[in-house]
Amino acid sequence: MTSPFDLGGRVALVTGANTGLGQGIALALAQAGADIVAMGRSVPVETEAAVQAAGRRFAFVDAALDTTAPVSAAVAEAARAFGGIDILVNNAGTIRRNDALEFTEDDWDAVMGVNLKTAFFLSQAVARTWVEADRGGKIINIASMLSFQGGIRVASYTASKHGILGLTRLLANEWAARGINVNAIAPGYFETNNTTALRSDEARNRAILDRIPAARWGRPADLGGAAVFLSSNASDYVHGAVLPVDGGWLAR
Ligand code: NAP
Repeated sequence: MTSPFDLGGRVALVTGANTGLGQGIALALAQAGADIVAMGRSVPVETEAAVQAAGRRFAFVDAALDTTAPVSAAVAEAARAFGGIDILVNNAGTIRRNDALEFTEDDWDAVMGVNLKTAFFLSQAVARTWVEADRGGKIINIASMLSFQGGIRVASYTASKHGILGLTRLLANEWAARGINVNAIAPGYFETNNTTALRSDEARNRAILDRIPAARWGRPADLGGAAVFLSSNASDYVHGAVLPVDGGWLAR
C-alpha cells in the first residue's frame, strides 16, 4: 500500500531554496519523492546536487521576489519545467532589524514585499493554474514565532509574519472547497542566515536557548516532517492550520 506521505510523481515549487529552511524543505520533499522547482535570485547549486542525489529531478527559475513583477512569467516557467505544479512552498523571506523609532520605509517595504505581498501573488498565480485545470493542490506558507508574538526591533518582519498567518486562514476559507489546502509552518529559532545576528549576540543567544525546551536551535532538517505532511495526502482535510516546529518555544 502506498504511504499517505508519499510524494512520488508530485512537483514542488519552493521559493528561496538555495539555503536555510528552504533548502531543508526542498530536500525533505525530494526524499519523499517530489521533483523540485526552486525559485529565487541565487543559483541553488548545493540544493540541486542534494535533490539529484536523492534521485529526483531539479529545475531552477531565476526570479527576484522583492516585487511581484516576475510572478506571472516565473510561475509559467515553473509549471513548464516538469508539466505542472502540485505543491507551493512560500519560503523566501528576509528581515530588517532596527528600533521602531529609527525604522525606515525601505526597511518596511523590503520585508513586506518578499515575505507577504509576493507570497500572496505567487499563491494566486499557482492557484489559478489549479482552478483552470479543475484540480487541487497544496500551499505551505512559512510563518514564524513572530506570527504570534511581537518580537523586538523587527517591525516589518512581525507585521509580515502576522500577515502571512492571516492570509493562510483567508486563502483556506476561499479555496478549501476547491481541494486546495493552504496551511502554514511556524518555525521556532533555527540556525540559518536569518538568525546569524541573534546567534552571534551572546546575551540574546543565551536568552533564546534558555527558553527553548528542546535546549537547542532548530536545524533545517527539523522542518522536513511537517513540510512532507502538509504537502501530502495525509493532510487532505487540514485547512488553514499553523504547525509550530519550535522545540517547544510556544509551550513556555
Ligand atoms: P535565509 O537562510 O536567509 O534564507 C532566505 C531565503 O529567501 C534565501 O533563499 C534568500 O535568497 C531568499 N530571499 C530573500 N529575499 C529574497 C528576494 N527578494 N527574492 C528572492 N529570494 C529571496 O533564511 P531562513 O531562515 O532559511 O528563512 C526562510 C524562511 O523562514 C523565511 O520566510 C523566514 O522568515 C522564515 N523563518 C526563519 C526562522 C529562523 O529561525 N531561521 C524562523 C521563523 C521563520 P538569497 O540567498 O539570495 O538571499
